[in-house]
Amino acid sequence: MTEFDWSDVAAETRAIRTGHRRGPEDEHSIPIFATSSYVFADAEQAALRFTGKQEGNIYSRFTNPTVAAFQERLASLEGGERCLAFSSGMAAIMAVGMALLKAGDHVLCSRSVFGNTVLAFQNYFGKFGVAVDFAALTDLDAWAAAIRPNTRFLFVETPSNPLMEIADIAALAEIAHRNGSLLVVDNVFCTPVLQQPLALGADLVVHSTTKYIDGQGRCVGGAVAGGAELMDKDLYPYLRTGGACMSPFNAWVFLGGLETLALRMRAHCENAFALALWLEQRNGVKAVHYPGLPSHAQHELAKRQQKYFGGVVSFELDGGQAEAWRFIDAMQWLSVTANLGDVKTTITHPATTTHGRLSAEQRAQTGIKDGLVRISVGLENVEDIKADLARGFAAAGF
Ligand SMILES: *Cc1c(COP(=O)(O)O)cnc(C)c1O
Repeated sequence: MTEFDWSDVAAETRAIRTGHRRGPEDEHSIPIFATSSYVFADAEQAALRFTGKQEGNIYSRFTNPTVAAFQERLASLEGGERCLAFSSGMAAIMAVGMALLKAGDHVLCSRSVFGNTVLAFQNYFGKFGVAVDFAALTDLDAWAAAIRPNTRFLFVETPSNPLMEIADIAALAEIAHRNGSLLVVDNVFCTPVLQQPLALGADLVVHSTTKYIDGQGRCVGGAVAGGAELMDKDLYPYLRTGGACMSPFNAWVFLGGLETLALRMRAHCENAFALALWLEQRNGVKAVHYPGLPSHAQHELAKRQQKYFGGVVSFELDGGQAEAWRFIDAMQWLSVTANLGDVKTTITHPATTTHGRLSAEQRAQTGIKDGLVRISVGLENVEDIKADLARGFAAAGF
């Protein structure tokens, strides 16, 4: 039987139907293949598999049917020819660096990326002779000015955390490609449901599947998606040798996550938008950072580049750390945690947690004020979320 061609099928359908090839037990739900290795028919087949002359399973560090199903499904949603799964989002980012960089190379990174991403380039790749510079996410001239002949790739996260600034992916791809460099986009905040960087010109997409793709805060995982050449030639051999692979159990959880991702993202975005509008009207709020608001500096770009505006809202309280902490401590059930992308709403104070390791000067440069509060809006009833936040406003004195 020839395989069904999924290319004309909508993303919501592919998120549910692709990746699983039913086995001899006729199972409806994909099994967890809890096996480290596979048995070959004979010595010749073993030799053919190991040398890559015959496709098939070899060893679960780099071939596992549950993990492969997840990879195939996420590749389809990102519009990439290939996807590889890793043990965490950071393992995926390290894999991109290990596979692509060599001593003497340069990386041009957004100033507003995940803290450990900064440390990966600065401390670890820096140790092996890779130089890194940082550019302001929305300043295209700064990117064009800082790129060098030896810049191997540009690295961005959009929207940024926690200020929800938007990078122009197509424009950055053009700056990169004109220079013979690549563009790598961290698509954690949007997921392929809201934004497909590869279609906008990016060369690789990285994910922490820990966030929205799981969606219920259970498992840690990561992924890289992109075109066949880069993925087969550079990323796959690195995964095989580097070994930071995804476990079949986690892949099984993430496969389920992908099945409801489109529905969940829509609901996250609706709740976040309602909350952003509500926050804008409150006394004691100096600014609300949400790309769906016409007051957002890249509102038009967000409308063009994303399907909806995302599930994270941050706002600046009229006050400093003391007010922000009193606000957060008044929550009765919003979770005080730095995680995001969960069905549970989470609240955090970036200046003393996720961005606490930056110097005061670096925080000022990236606009992380002491009164800033970030909310990853969950799927509880939005009126209930507002009621908990109202307790925060009262406690902070507004
Ligand atoms: C969490 C996160 C990462 C790192 O992912 P882990 O799965 O925690 O290793 C990278 N980028 C962004 C934007 C994240 O939110």
